[in-house]
Amino acid sequence: SRVPVITIDGPGGSGKGTISALLAQKLGWNLLDSGALYRLVALSAQNHDVGLEDEDSLRVMAEHLDVQFATAENGSLQVVLEGEVVSKSMRTEECGVAASQVAAQPAVRTALLKRQRAFAEAPGLVADGRDMGTVVFPHAPLKVYLTASADVRAERRRRQLQEKGIDVSIQRLLADIQERDERDMNRAVAPLKPAEDAVLLDSTKLTIEEVLERILKETARRG
Ligand code: C5P
Repeated sequence: SRVPVITIDGPGGSGKGTISALLAQKLGWNLLDSGALYRLVALSAQNHDVGLEDEDSLRVMAEHLDVQFATAENGSLQVVLEGEVVSKSMRTEECGVAASQVAAQPAVRTALLKRQRAFAEAPGLVADGRDMGTVVFPHAPLKVYLTASADVRAERRRRQLQEKGIDVSIQRLLADIQERDERDMNRAVAPLKPAEDAVLLDSTKLTIEEVLERILKETARRG
């Protein structure tokens, strides 16, 4: 029997990360933050002076990603890459842009497929990304495509980064987000787009609670 999967895809700043984490918590399901994997490959490439277009070396890094999750003294979850805590550096918009360059390499995507599918364990999985519903979990019973206006997404991102102690101008963020969306939507392999059977949700004028409520309603409807 297949483990139930809810996929949540969409552009950066649409609220996917927050919504996915809350949904997984509410349902008691596992959570896959697939963007984190691409960010970690980008950081690893930087560590080893590998160019973001060197497809073959990037594939090797993706296959052998040395990552651990540790609980810090204050109880927060830390991401440790090659022995170094990267919880903060992996969240910068620079890293997001680098991740989207790495993610455009087909061999990197193939190398990460198995690792992502291994997250589908009982009792269920909430998968957050760009191609969760189209490529990684094409049989997911519920697929959500979450969007919001670019302005609102930039503003949300800025607030998230501020909470992590990272300050950036809204203009800079908007430009970075648009560059990333453009690349993610136009790449040859697994471009960002809604799955044919996805539920489209525009969160521009919705609160987190309202988005969550709509997704839970869809979940209930599908039994
Ligand atoms: O979601 P997040 O902002 O962490 O993703 C960083 C980048 O990783 C995205 O801009 C995208 O290029 C890439 N990505 C992807 N496929 C996914 C998740 C993320 O290509 N499933």
